[in-house]
Amino acid sequence: APHTTASETALAGLREDMAGAVYVPGDPGYDEARAVHNGMIDRRPAVIAQCAGPADVSNAILFGRETGLPIAVRGGGHSVAGTSVVDGGLVVDLRRMHAVVVDPEHRTVRVEGGATMSHLDRATQPFGLATTGGRVSTTGVGGFVLGGGSGWLERKFGLASDNLLAAELITAEGRHVVAGPEENPELFWALHGGGGNFGVATSLTLRLHELPHMSFALLLFPPRSGPAVLRAYRDLGARAPDEIGGGVIYFPAPPEPFVPAHLVGQLVCGALVTCAGPVARVRETAEPLLALRPVVEVVSDVPYADLQCMLDDPPGLRNYWSAEYLSGLPDEAVDVFAARGERIPEGTATQHVLFLMGGAVAAGPSGYPQPWRTAPWVVHPFATWEDPADDGRVVQWVHDVRTAVRPWTTDAVYLNFIGEEGERRVVAGFGEENLPRLAAVKAAFDPDNVFRLNHNVRPAA
Ligand code: FAD
Repeated sequence: APHTTASETALAGLREDMAGAVYVPGDPGYDEARAVHNGMIDRRPAVIAQCAGPADVSNAILFGRETGLPIAVRGGGHSVAGTSVVDGGLVVDLRRMHAVVVDPEHRTVRVEGGATMSHLDRATQPFGLATTGGRVSTTGVGGFVLGGGSGWLERKFGLASDNLLAAELITAEGRHVVAGPEENPELFWALHGGGGNFGVATSLTLRLHELPHMSFALLLFPPRSGPAVLRAYRDLGARAPDEIGGGVIYFPAPPEPFVPAHLVGQLVCGALVTCAGPVARVRETAEPLLALRPVVEVVSDVPYADLQCMLDDPPGLRNYWSAEYLSGLPDEAVDVFAARGERIPEGTATQHVLFLMGGAVAAGPSGYPQPWRTAPWVVHPFATWEDPADDGRVVQWVHDVRTAVRPWTTDAVYLNFIGEEGERRVVAGFGEENLPRLAAVKAAFDPDNVFRLNHNVRPAA
């Protein structure tokens, strides 16, 4: 056709090659396809390629390179900075690739690159098997695992990436590669924390574990009890067996059936104890907290896949969060954390989180680019709200939390828990000592830095 430009021809070719779907501005479904979890992110890609399989991923990448469009990779769309969507560029969207195949005999599971936590957990549950997953069921397995993967089961079974047995990727050249301990071992190493820098993971194979029981205690206290609750939690955390996980969260009490009407919307200090074991064990572990006389007390067995939904938020809220990894939790740190909890921005659904780490996370492999894994506690101010007019004060609160806990922070930070916070934080996330090795893997698999919309590793010269 006389007026067809080179990129129009390329787009027509992509549409023809793809088994999945292609969206451009104006197409029905385009707005839904460009939306991500964080309602603050409102970007308009030139092309969204919803891939149906590895061949589509390869075609999409080659199309992006041919047309010079910047390329974003979308799994579950939960990056807080919105790295999975790009103005005027190409989104390689994996959401249609969510098949999960369990191999109960070998206790492994093969997960496609666009599956969510809920696809994974619901598939393994009937077999009485599970692996460490994220604490919100709508998060993508891809971005979660490749960044490290922290969840309730980590103290028992390690980080999600510790359970990574193999990955299949499509590289920046559109080639299929396998990464495992024997095949491309350097690439395999880099996938333990290095994120989406090295290619698009079309499948991940993860180790599963037997999980016959899961139980939890959720205890709500008035905020003035917070310092005592935090001290008790710290002390039980130091002794707890690896089955135990959880943390302390200041948040406005949600309108759940177990919350009395007069408390709904009021700020509470919640202690959550999770247990990869029977309810009797969780009750015993939570004893020092129960002694502090919570105003709401839920102690129960729970199917793992249901526990995984307990903190789910609706999509589209505005999100801003960060994290600081602590070397310890002395009384002064407890008091500072509690004081910030009392100042959660009013009228928002913000959570002020302290997670217990340790166990198999700290004891696990130390050679990966995950310098944060040995910290015993993480402070995770996690703000969600609706009204753009609140942006300023909410973001300020998150920064204030970080500043307040600085005396006890380690340098290291888990990059999946932060947005774009500058080069220094990215270095702290991978560990300076690991950067040359990551840069060498990057140079081998993505020398032109095609995959750069992420916590970026630049290729070695
Ligand atoms: P996306 O935004 O789709 O992707 C983020 C980046 O990951 C992409 O830019 C890309 O670089 C890369 N990526 C994604 N999929 C692939 C793939 N298949 N191949 C190659 N690269 C890929 N993290 C935890 O560890 N534990 C938690 O408990 C936890 N809870 C969370 C709760 C909420 C509500 C949210 C929003 C996030 C949470 N996270 C948690 C953080 C989460 O792990 C990261 O945001 C992660 O990046 C999300 O992955 P995604 O695929 O959903 O994100």
